[in-house]
Order: sequence, then C-alpha cells, then structure tokens
Amino acid sequence: MVKSKAFRYKKVAFYTLILLSTYIFTVGYGVNNNKVLIRFYDVGQGDSILIKFPKELNEYKILIDGGPSNILSTKISKDVSFNNKIINSVVITHLHDDHIAGLYDILHNYSIESAFIPSLPINEYKSSPLIKSLLGNNITTITPFHNQIMTISNNNAMDSPATLRFIWSGLDSINATGCANLDTSNPNVYSLVILLTYKDFSALFASDAEAGVLECLENLSDIDILKVPHQGSRDALFKNFYYSTLPEIAILSVGKNTYGHPHKEVLDFLKLNSINTFRTDIYGDISILTDGITYTTFYSKIK
Ligand SMILES: [Zn+2]
Repeated sequence: MVKSKAFRYKKVAFYTLILLSTYIFTVGYGVNNNKVLIRFYDVGQGDSILIKFPKELNEYKILIDGGPSNILSTKISKDVSFNNKIINSVVITHLHDDHIAGLYDILHNYSIESAFIPSLPINEYKSSPLIKSLLGNNITTITPFHNQIMTISNNNAMDSPATLRFIWSGLDSINATGCANLDTSNPNVYSLVILLTYKDFSALFASDAEAGVLECLENLSDIDILKVPHQGSRDALFKNFYYSTLPEIAILSVGKNTYGHPHKEVLDFLKLNSINTFRTDIYGDISILTDGITYTTFYSKIK
C-alpha cells in the first residue's frame, strides 16, 4: 500500500478538520495485539461489521450494524470474549431491519457503552423500537453531526492514530450540504457513512447510501477498503464516488435476496475498474487486518 502526495494532502486536510470540529469524541479502554481487525460478518442479506482496535488503543470495539437476524450473536461470540462482554460502541447506520434486527440480542447479552444513531426526523426517532430499547437500557446515544470526528484514544490525545469521521450523518448532513432532491421518506438517505482512518490505512463504510447521497459527499479522497453501499444495488452506483475514492478492495455484504443484489451493473463496474471484490455470500466472514501501513485480507470460506 504505497501512499502518495495525495494521501499526505488528505492527512493535512483531516487534521484541519479535527481542529475545525467543534466537538470531538474521545474514547478508550482494553488490552491485546498490535493490529486493527475489521470483520465483515456473513449475516445473509444485510450488514454487520466489527472493528477491533489494537492493544495501544485498548482493544476498543465498535460494532457497525447487526444484520437481519440473531446469527450475529453466534458470529460475534468468537471475537468478543465471554469473560469481557464489552462492545464499546454500537453504530446503527439506519433503521432498516437488515441492518438492525440482530442488534436486539446484542443489547441483551453484551455490555454496550454508547450507541451512535443517525440524525433523523423527530417522528422516526421517537417511533423506533430499537432507539426505545437503547434508551430503556440506559445506553448513551450519540447523534453525530455532519462531518463529526471521533478519535479512538486511550489518553485523550488529539493526534490519535485512529479516527472515525461521519461523512454523512443523516438529516444534519442533508441540511449542512443543502443536498436537494433526496427522497426523505426513504430511510436509506439517513444512513451514516463512516470513514475509518488508522495511520495510513483507510476504510469507508457506506451503509445503504444511494446515488443521491453519494453525490453529496464532500472532500472524498483515496481509500483502501470500501464497504459497497446498499448490497451492490444499482441505486447506489454513482461512478464519480468510485473515481474519487479509488478503493483497492470492495466488500459486498450480501445474501439470498429477491432484489437481485448485487446488481450486474455494479459487479461489472467493479471488475472494469480492477477493484478486487469480495462477497460475504461467497467468501463468508471477510476480515481485514492492518497495522496501519499494510493490510491483509482473509475469509472464512475456502473458494
Ligand atoms: Zn437500508
């Protein structure tokens, strides 16, 4: 993974954003190894991703979405030890069942310190059973604002090697960017889109953002890993998004479905642009392990 001037520019821009940000989350905890693990669980048609930070960041654990069923409980038990059932942060990217149904078991069986939820219209926020459960369990809920940065740190350092940036936070991003022509009755337009940076490594988790949202994302630059938006739906194929981010690897979190996901147009586009593509329905759980300079990819099913 050779990074060019473009990346240095990105880094300068990034720290500028930290300074400009009016509120920064700083979080920490834990023990163990020296690499970041990102696990895209094979949960069928839906998303669930665990990010586990290294010892230097106290093994902080973030779970992005919970997939469509309680299959996640079995999967995650291999990564989060029985003796220390702590998931520091859960991220609920949006309120569709294929992203959140598996979280109820997790709420019940794990200790969760905080939950990130998108910025939503008040009626959707108030009527969500999952958000009610979070509040009922006294879990701290955090709604990030547009472009907000969360640093992963064990000493409150501003220069932590690991950050999450909420490049789309839902309603707040719609308002901040003035992005027009979005169907605001579609929960996908409120999907949190998150950029993870660890040293020179970056991964973009695009949830179910569709073309209208992707078109409105700002300040995108090259990334290593992309969680392909919306299970590879053609509705989420906005080519300039790929030309801006130039991912090396695309992960499709997909299972048996009636929508035809991933659509052929998306697969053809990824192939045409030489982006290595891994699908959870073919490769099983797909894992990325990085020291922040290089990364390796491995998976649970033999292909
Ligand atoms: Zn969705």
